[in-house]
Amino acid sequence: MSDAMQPLEIAREALRRLAMRQLQPTPENYRSLYHEIAGTKADDLFPERALKLVCSTLPRLNQSQIEFVERLESAVVSRSWSAISGSLVGLLRAQAAPQRKWTALLKDLFKQFERNHDSLTYAQKQMAIQQVLDSSSGELDALYARLSKLADNWESCESSDAPAAESHGHGIHKIVPALDNSDAALRDLFASTLEGVVGGLLISAPELRDEALALGQALRDVRDMGGVDDLASKLRNLVYRLNWVVDDQAEIRAGLLSLLDLLLKNIGELVLDDRWMRGQIDSLRALCDHPLTARELDEVERRLREVIERQGSLRGNIDDAKHQIKLMLAGFVEQLGSFTDATSGFGEKMEGYAETIAAADDIGSLQGVIAEVIAATHSMRATTEKSRAEVDNMRDRVRAAEAEIERLQVELEQTSEKMRHDPLTGALNRKGLEESYAKEVSRAARRGSLLCLAVLDIDNFKRLNDTYGHNTGDEALLHLVGTVRDCLRPHDTLSRYGGEEFVILLPETSVEDSVIVLQRLQRELTKRYFLANNDKLLITFSAGVTVVGHEEPQTSAIERADVAMYQAKATGKNRVVIAPEQPIAA
Ligand code: GH3
Ligand code: MG
Ligand code: MG
Repeated sequence: MSDAMQPLEIAREALRRLAMRQLQPTPENYRSLYHEIAGTKADDLFPERALKLVCSTLPRLNQSQIEFVERLESAVVSRSWSAISGSLVGLLRAQAAPQRKWTALLKDLFKQFERNHDSLTYAQKQMAIQQVLDSSSGELDALYARLSKLADNWESCESSDAPAAESHGHGIHKIVPALDNSDAALRDLFASTLEGVVGGLLISAPELRDEALALGQALRDVRDMGGVDDLASKLRNLVYRLNWVVDDQAEIRAGLLSLLDLLLKNIGELVLDDRWMRGQIDSLRALCDHPLTARELDEVERRLREVIERQGSLRGNIDDAKHQIKLMLAGFVEQLGSFTDATSGFGEKMEGYAETIAAADDIGSLQGVIAEVIAATHSMRATTEKSRAEVDNMRDRVRAAEAEIERLQVELEQTSEKMRHDPLTGALNRKGLEESYAKEVSRAARRGSLLCLAVLDIDNFKRLNDTYGHNTGDEALLHLVGTVRDCLRPHDTLSRYGGEEFVILLPETSVEDSVIVLQRLQRELTKRYFLANNDKLLITFSAGVTVVGHEEPQTSAIERADVAMYQAKATGKNRVVIAPEQPIAA
C-alpha cells in the first residue's frame, strides 16, 4: 500500500486514523501512524541519520576541527544529547578565546624566528612564513594550524639539518572550499592527510614526499569514479614504497640510538670520575631505552648539555689542581737534587778534613781545620733545616691540592642533580620547574590543550621528624617521591618546591582527570607503608589542583593551587581540592 503512496497522502491518512482511533494528536502518535502507513520503521526520537549527515559535511581543515567533529560524531553514535551539547559548548568556548591562542602562537613564532638554528637561515624562515601566508588565503583556522606547525618544526629543528623549505613543505597545500557531500569531505580529509601528515613525515625521502603532495592535490581535483580508480592504484603503489621508508626509518632510529649508547659508554671511559658518569649514563640510557617522545628527547638533550657543560668546567679545575701538584713535585725533585749536592760536598769536605787531621803533627795545627769543620757542619745543618722546611711546606701544599681535587670530584659527582634536580630526592628543583613550566604552558597554549598544576604538601611531617629524626624524615621524602614516580605518567613532571612541598605538572589533562591521578597516588601511598624503626607509617599528603591559564605566570598558578591545598588541610588533610580556574581577562 505504501509503495504507491505519496508523502502527502500518507500524511492525510495518518491524520484520518488519528481521528478515527481517537488518539491524542501528539507528534509521537502522528509519527508512529505515519510509519505504520508508509510501511517504514519508526525510528526512535533520536535523529541519528540526520545528525550523522550533518557531521559528514562539517569541515575538517585543522586538528581542532577534526577533534571537534570526531567528538560530535561519537556523541551522535552514543545518542547522547548531553555529549552533543558538551561538544558544542566546547567549540564555542574554544572560539571565545582565540585571541589568547594567537598571542601565544605569535610569541612562539617570534621566539623561534629570533633563535639561531643550525640549519635554518633568516631568509629561509622568512620564505617559509611567506609561503604559509600565501597558501592560507584568508582562512584564519588554517593559517593558525600552519603557523603553529611551523613553530613546532622550528622548535625541534635545532640540530637537524633539514632545510626550512622541506621542514614546512606540508604547510603549502592549496585549500579547496568545503564541499557539500560526505565523499568530498572524506576526500578532502584524506588529501590533507597525504599533504600535511605523510608529506611532513617524508623529509628524508623528497621523491616520495613530492608524490604524496601530488597525489593529495589529484585527490582534491578528481571528479569521477574512473579518476578514483586510477588514484587508488597510484596510492597502493605509494603505500607499498612507504612501508620501505618506515622500515628504513625504524632501522635508522635504532642505529642512532645504539650509536648514542656506544658514545655514552665510551665517554664513561674518558672521564675522570666513573661513579658520577655511570649515574649520568645510566639515566640517559634508561631514557633512550624505549620509544622516545618529544618531551623525553628534550630531557635527554638537556641532561647531555648539563653533563658536557658542567663536566667541562669541573674537569678544567681538576686539571689545574693536578698541574699544581706536578709543578710542586718538579720543585721537590729540584730541591732534593740541590740538597744531595750540598750533602755530597759536605762528605767530600769531611774526608779532606779527616786526611788533614790524620796527617797533622801537632794539636796546634789542627785549630784551623777544626774551625773549618765547625763552620761546614753549621752550614750543613742550615741547609738541612732549610730543605726540611721547604719539603714540609711542599707536603702541605700537595695535601691541600689533593683535598681540592677530592672536593671537586665530589662536586662533579653531585653536579647534574644540582643544576635542575633536587639533590636529596632527584625530583626537579625550582629551576627545573621553571623551565618545565614555561615549556608546558607554551605547548598547551599552542595546541589549545589543558595543563593542570598540583601543589602537594605532606601531612604532619614535622611530627614525623620530631618523633623519628631528620634522617627518617628524609627517607620519607624519598619514599613519597619514589611512589609518585611510579604512579605518574611519563609526561607528568614532579618538582620539589620546598621542604615537604611538591609541584606536579599534568599536561593534556583535565582538572577532573588530575584529581583522579592524585587520588590514585593517595591510594598507592596507603598500600605502600613507610617503615621507620619497625613502625609502619602511612605518609599522606594534601593537594590543591588547578587548570593553568594559557598565559598564566607560574607564581599565579601555584598560588591558586596553594590556596586550594590549604583548604584540603583545613578540611581534614589527605585530600585533593580543586582551585577555581584563572579568570579570563576581559
Ligand atoms: P601540615 O600537615 O599542616 O603540613 O603540617 P606539617 O608538620 O607537615 O607542616 P609544617 O610546615 O609545620 O612542618 C614542615 C616540616 O618539614 C618542618 C621541617 O622541619 C620539615 N622539613 C622541611 N624540609 C625537610 C627536609 O629536607 N628533610 C626533613 N627531614 N624534614 C624537612
Ligand atoms: Mg609545608
Ligand atoms: Mg606539611
